[in-house]
Amino acid sequence: MTQKVYDCIIVGGGPAGLTAGIYMARARVDVVLLEKVMPGGQIMTSDLVENYPGFPKGISGAELSFAMSQQASNMGLVVESAQVTGVDFSGAVKVLLTDTGKYLAKTVIIASGAQPGKLGVPGENIYYGKGVSFCATCDAPFFRNKVVAAVGGGDTAVQESIFLTRFAEKVYLIHRRNTLRATKVLQERALSNKRIEMVWDSVVTQIQGEEGVSSVGVKNLKTGEEKNLPVDGVFVWVGTVPNTDFVKGAVKTNERGFIVADSNMRTSVPGVFAAGDVRDTPLRQVSTAVGDAAIAAFSAGHYLEEHS
Ligand code: FAD
Repeated sequence: MTQKVYDCIIVGGGPAGLTAGIYMARARVDVVLLEKVMPGGQIMTSDLVENYPGFPKGISGAELSFAMSQQASNMGLVVESAQVTGVDFSGAVKVLLTDTGKYLAKTVIIASGAQPGKLGVPGENIYYGKGVSFCATCDAPFFRNKVVAAVGGGDTAVQESIFLTRFAEKVYLIHRRNTLRATKVLQERALSNKRIEMVWDSVVTQIQGEEGVSSVGVKNLKTGEEKNLPVDGVFVWVGTVPNTDFVKGAVKTNERGFIVADSNMRTSVPGVFAAGDVRDTPLRQVSTAVGDAAIAAFSAGHYLEEHS
């Protein structure tokens, strides 16, 4: 029996994948979205999204991703549970290998996003889930009236540290520089929050504990001074790593593994497009992910017309 060839397969069901799905399903393209966990993506772990237009009071990441998912499904988008593990993009028909079998498509939109970067220090892996976390929404309630460290200086680190203070008695925000990178409004909130103590110019050198985390080793990069901060938990927000292992060598990526795509979201392989956090782009947000995805779907539609 010959295997079905989809017009389009979307890899990943975060904001980018769901948006591409909405556009493709509305265009009545024969499309399927493959998602390895559940639709929603990273934004599901955010307590509050206040920079995505349309929600004057902000919206929780969980609500936003549920609404996107619902909208895509109302539009007729089919989502299948599958993890893409490898690809063969050498022919006109693209092959996607997954944990549930092989899929074929004329076009592919890669929207597999990214995941939190790690510190790479001793103790981080040992205490993951025992005090080390990458998700305040998931784990902050475990730290009610406790002391935690948060690491990072960008929007996510600062926003999530502020959220942590709803539970934790004190949050040490450890940042390698002496100014935050986060948006000004977030900086103002963090710097005026009495429960947040900034630890400037510093990096975490190790995470110690027994059953769970009990302290973090911190080194001041300017003075060289090293000290131990007693904490019950460590939250890490130090950038992102792309989910591109499954396309390694098949499409052009930058030195950090993010997929290189042009302004039409075309990758180095004709018929293969990329959108959202997985892309080599200066800003990784919901608004940029959905914008990329709309263009990727539009470009994939054009490609299908030209090659029909
Ligand atoms: P992702 O959201 O990463 O989705 C990718 C999807 O692909 C995932 O569901 C994943 O399971 C799936 N996937 C990955 N690999 C495979 C595979 N091999 N096979 C099948 N499926 C796969 N942005 C804002 O605009 N405002 C905010 O306030 C904000 N707060 C944030 C707070 C936190 C804690 C975090 C972590 C992020 C935040 N962001 C925020 C960033 C935002 O979440 C991302 O920019 C956005 O989710 C990117 O969407 P995406 O669809 O490109 O990728």
